Amino acid sequence: MGCDFIELAVPGVRALNPYLPGKPVEELAREQGLDADSIVKLASNENPLGAAPSSQQAIARMMGELARYPDSSLYNLRDALSRKLSVEPEQITFGNGSNDVLVLLAQCYLTQGASAVFSEYAFVVYPIAVQAAGAQSIVVPAKNWEHDLDAMANAIRPDTRMVFLANPNNPTGTSFSDAELKTFLAKVPENVIVVLDEAYFEYASDSDHPDGISLLKQYPNLVVTRTFSKAYGLAGGRVGYSVSSKEISSVLNRLRQPFNVNNLVEAAAVAVLNDDEYLQRSRQVNQDGMAQIEEGLRALNIDFIPSTGNFITFDAGMDGVECYQKLLKLGVIVRPVANYGMPGHLRVSIGLEDENSRFLEALASVVKQP
Ligand SMILES: *Cc1c(COP(=O)(O)O)cnc(C)c1O
Repeated sequence: MGCDFIELAVPGVRALNPYLPGKPVEELAREQGLDADSIVKLASNENPLGAAPSSQQAIARMMGELARYPDSSLYNLRDALSRKLSVEPEQITFGNGSNDVLVLLAQCYLTQGASAVFSEYAFVVYPIAVQAAGAQSIVVPAKNWEHDLDAMANAIRPDTRMVFLANPNNPTGTSFSDAELKTFLAKVPENVIVVLDEAYFEYASDSDHPDGISLLKQYPNLVVTRTFSKAYGLAGGRVGYSVSSKEISSVLNRLRQPFNVNNLVEAAAVAVLNDDEYLQRSRQVNQDGMAQIEEGLRALNIDFIPSTGNFITFDAGMDGVECYQKLLKLGVIVRPVANYGMPGHLRVSIGLEDENSRFLEALASVVKQP
């Protein structure tokens, strides 16, 4: 009898459900025999403008450096970012996407016998990171699809070492205010690390939306994560970061793979960080597209959760996966969220105007079918 290599895996990893990514365009084209150019992908909250010309040019200039290892300290990006955010360079920890930093945080501060708190319907990477570290997840029921911060503070136990907050949250698109965050932070014991995931920070336009970085001095147990994947249009490049106390950053750096961010994307990130026009355009396209999709959903009498991100989650009015599959046949890729405990909903990323129209037309024909 052969060895069972599933059973041999460490328990936290054995029990994991792998992350389910959005379906790639090429895969759908193959499966349905569709022309890839005719497919609209609004499934992964990517920037519909495509990578900024400034970041593409920066990558082109770096191509000759591919034979070299990247700068492990990421001096250029660290310098640019620390100026932009008005933080010390040593407060920043880079990751291969902010996902990498989230996993690193769990690995550095969680272990068997510890627990971590996060909300129902929060980003699925949190349970994966917690479980892989051997720790226990405490999932706090959401209120109106939102983080219930009072209940989350009350859920903290003596063995709790970490709390994950997503603001805006994915996939619900909900946000909490500056005042709500401060009330929450005041209740958290100082030895519990609060990871504030601000992947969509640059899009959030709700009044009183907190800027986690401005709270770091007052709350040394706070860690803010951000990314270049969304508003900065570099999802495929893979670079994100955390800003924290220097102590926490020094801990993360002990385990961080020395070359976890490549030299091409470092150059691209520096370029786009200084490209205010691209960021402004990204925000504007998102704001216009959000209004377009909200209006389209209302016209179809479809309920949705008002969103502060670059995506919106709506009630499919039928099984979400069934609706998803019908949209696929029409060449439109959105994201099922059954794995978030939302089997009747779908999440759609905000695209360019014609992509949003294609999505709304396809959805109209799906929901109008008898
Ligand atoms: C997209 C996303 C991230 C990070 O993505 P990376 O590409 O790994 O930087 C983190 N948190 C949330 C909530 C997200 O939706």
